[in-house]
Amino acid sequence: MTLSLAAVRALDAADPFAGTRARFALPPGVLYLDGNSLGPLQHTVARHLTDVVATQWGEGLIRSWNTHDWLDLPARVGARIAPLIGADAASVTVTDSTSINLFKLLAVAVARNPGRTTILSETHNFPTDLHVAQGLAALKGQGVRLRTVTAEDIPAALDADCAVLLLTEVNYRTGARHDMAALTRLAHDKGMLTLWDLAHSAGAFPVDLSAADTDFALGCGYKYLNGGPGAPSFVYVAPRHLPGLRQPLSGWMGAAQPFAFDDQYEPAPGINAMRVGTPPILSLSALEAALDAFSGVDMAVLRTKADGLFDLFTAIAAGAPELDLVTPRDPARRGTQASFRFPLAYEAMQALIEQGVIGDFRTPDIMRFGLTPLYLSYEDVFHAGHKLVEVITTRAYAAPRFAIRNKVV
Ligand SMILES: *Cc1c(COP(=O)(O)O)cnc(C)c1O
Repeated sequence: MTLSLAAVRALDAADPFAGTRARFALPPGVLYLDGNSLGPLQHTVARHLTDVVATQWGEGLIRSWNTHDWLDLPARVGARIAPLIGADAASVTVTDSTSINLFKLLAVAVARNPGRTTILSETHNFPTDLHVAQGLAALKGQGVRLRTVTAEDIPAALDADCAVLLLTEVNYRTGARHDMAALTRLAHDKGMLTLWDLAHSAGAFPVDLSAADTDFALGCGYKYLNGGPGAPSFVYVAPRHLPGLRQPLSGWMGAAQPFAFDDQYEPAPGINAMRVGTPPILSLSALEAALDAFSGVDMAVLRTKADGLFDLFTAIAAGAPELDLVTPRDPARRGTQASFRFPLAYEAMQALIEQGVIGDFRTPDIMRFGLTPLYLSYEDVFHAGHKLVEVITTRAYAAPRFAIRNKVV
């Protein structure tokens, strides 16, 4: 049974996030269900960036490295992200891209588990996670190899040759979620370290790295954290791994005293050793301002709304039985996206986008929708669901123009 519009409006009237929606500069006529891929702009982010450009860069010029303490901006933004992932502020910084941080953290993990050669990951993990592991293996020769197994086979594959378990908590395609604490415990029992990719977790639901006893983690700034296209990535190193932390991209900004201009690299103490080069101040400033949307937000309450949006959206989508929900229904076993298998998923998504409902396509046949409570109302999701059903049942996607593939899908 699906809800009436009146019932949906009653849910919105009681929505604790009704007010936060006004922060976001969403264009009229667009229902945005792709914030899991690129979070939207907030008015305050645009204003802050304008100010940083005009005042800090324009007027302050190079003096702003001191007057605005640009050098510690990665740590300040990291401290804002820390509570969202259950971490000490001293364990988090924001630097580089997720892909680059994967390389650094994998190298650290492998070096900290000498004598073991295997990086264990999941078949169909996000490509960059696997590609970076392959790159590290190629660099290390016989010393390191990547092994991938299906999700079900992970517990049995943990063994004494595995140095590190590299997993993405929420699968980008299906939205299925691993039990991070349980798998971390199993991996630790086998003497392994763990590296968790939180690209589809941070900012979507409560994450507790400390409780899960995770060794290393990282995630994107531009998805649920809304930091803007190409926003830098956060990186987490458990407090027990901070002493003596050293990673192979030993750039001067990760050195103990960058402005001593020493020939010899000496890593900075603590999490700062994960840094490499000059931080991207504009991107970091955008992310810093974007994180204001989370201040005072109880992530458990946010997650409850996301589950309500999921239930509403999937109930409506059931009106098109051709759509095969591949995301687990059990909230404990999924993130906050809804993914459907449909044979002409690309075409159907293009048709839907033309109607003002933005989700995305993931090869070969997945239609993916992000359910983000900070700016989506129940009514938005109600209309988006009905549009989706309409596109499928009227076969609107059959028009030839929808089959033309864009460079970015
Ligand atoms: C989006 C995503 C990335 C992106 O990495 P970039 O270096 O920012 O391009 C990495 N891992 C996962 C699981 C992702 O979903």
